[in-house]
Amino acid sequence: MGDNYRKFFKFLLWFLFFITFTAEFVKIVFELSPESGHKPLGMANAFFWSSLFLIEIIMGGFIVTFFIKYPSRRLRLLCLSACHFSVILLLPVLLDDWSWTSLLYPWPHSLQAFDPGTPQTAFILSLIVGFVIVPVITFKWGAKGFCGYMCPHGAFFSETYGRIFPARYNRLKWAGRFLPQTYFLLMTAALLGIIIIPDSIYPVRTVQKLVYFFTAELFFFVIAIPLIGGRSYCRLLCPMGYYVKLLVRASRKIKA
Ligand code: SF4
Repeated sequence: MGDNYRKFFKFLLWFLFFITFTAEFVKIVFELSPESGHKPLGMANAFFWSSLFLIEIIMGGFIVTFFIKYPSRRLRLLCLSACHFSVILLLPVLLDDWSWTSLLYPWPHSLQAFDPGTPQTAFILSLIVGFVIVPVITFKWGAKGFCGYMCPHGAFFSETYGRIFPARYNRLKWAGRFLPQTYFLLMTAALLGIIIIPDSIYPVRTVQKLVYFFTAELFFFVIAIPLIGGRSYCRLLCPMGYYVKLLVRASRKIKA
């Protein structure tokens, strides 16, 4: 592919992310109540879901291309695709309920599992993933366990969309020194808040949804990946990544 075609393709893809997450912003404004959770697929959300679906197809194309081109990345691509497409497409579409994404977006990545609209099974599975499976695989394989082979967000998109943009590790490096831990502390306070006062889920989840949207979606896909690189959200913001880091430190102490 010539340079001009490559640049044009990159621009089109970026534009697709831009209009998709602009549409999600509109959707979020109309769905702020956590009581309702994410609504079933319907005409009102058709544009957002269609463009998200198109993004998923393009990401599938990246997976196939990189799988053929880079044999050393095959295992990682297979694991990430299995995790991503199962929680982002298969479960929500089959069960017509977006809450099932909480299985691989557990606390502290999100508080989605705690939405009153989330099915009990998804809630329990999300807790098991967050508090049992992630610690166990981190103890066994370190940070690369979840953040390298499972995460349907930063890991998946850095291996697909993120691969077409250069990584610029020095940009906003200063922010990565305090934002992940601050975000993690806020997510911990939010978790304690909803355990102590269950009704606080309504305002807490409203704020968390907005913070998640602006950081992990709009900022990550539209600004950070093109300008900083695929792992930008992981390095600069992610509370889940910081949680994994804490687990790595704990496992080193235990093994020492
Ligand atoms: S740092 Fe966060 S977004 Fe990145 S791979 Fe880890 S959990 Fe996923």
